Amino acid sequence: MTAEKGGRGRRRVPRRLPSAGGLGAMSGPPDKKSRARTILRHLERAYPDAKCALSFETPLELLVATILSAQCTDERVNIVTRDLFTKYRSAAAYARANPATFEAEIRSTGFYRAKARSVIGMAKALVEEHGGDVPRDLEALRKLPGVGLKTASVLLGNAFGTPAIAVDTHVFRISQRLGLAKGDDPDRIHDQLTEVLPRAQWTRACHLIQAHGRRTCTARKPACPACPVRALCPWPDKTRAV
Ligand code: SF4
Repeated sequence: MTAEKGGRGRRRVPRRLPSAGGLGAMSGPPDKKSRARTILRHLERAYPDAKCALSFETPLELLVATILSAQCTDERVNIVTRDLFTKYRSAAAYARANPATFEAEIRSTGFYRAKARSVIGMAKALVEEHGGDVPRDLEALRKLPGVGLKTASVLLGNAFGTPAIAVDTHVFRISQRLGLAKGDDPDRIHDQLTEVLPRAQWTRACHLIQAHGRRTCTARKPACPACPVRALCPWPDKTRAV
């Protein structure tokens, strides 16, 4: 998941919020939870349109799209799923898919053999163990083939309305740049973020951080001078360092 629905093909740099110095400088060790809340408030003002970038109408569609989104842009996934969702309308339909045919249908998303195995295996598990429905709890989701903590969290937060933190590439990078978490393992970052982000805002926080990572704090060239949380960032001049 690397781009955002509604923002395709367009990189918007948000307006700079006024009085960066008034946001609370990085002097001293500010309380992490309070910093996190302030950061979310400013990201919300900068990216009010942030939302899940994958197109879907049902939990099953989101599950398939999220599996396909590994190492692929959301734009590409949305192009592929447009046809896929018309052809495969239930877990049983995916479970019956011919592997070679399905591989060809999702080929452009990359890693298509492994993804085809995951989607078909996941669908078989849904049919055999869940009556064809996508389960609503984290542990049941994580037991499905091809579904890890990130994918399960995407489902909980975006399909079922249960607050969840999905650590994708943007959340992994930005949460560390902003000093909200630290580590080289996404699951560890996830656990640390559950401690500092308000539970009710977990899903929303991910949308906001993803928007920030796509539009401003990109991996290669963060736009620090235009950053809405620059005053709260330990790396306010990172632009010059890249
Ligand atoms: S100041 Fe620069 S490095 Fe820090 S969050 Fe903003 S864009 Fe990213």
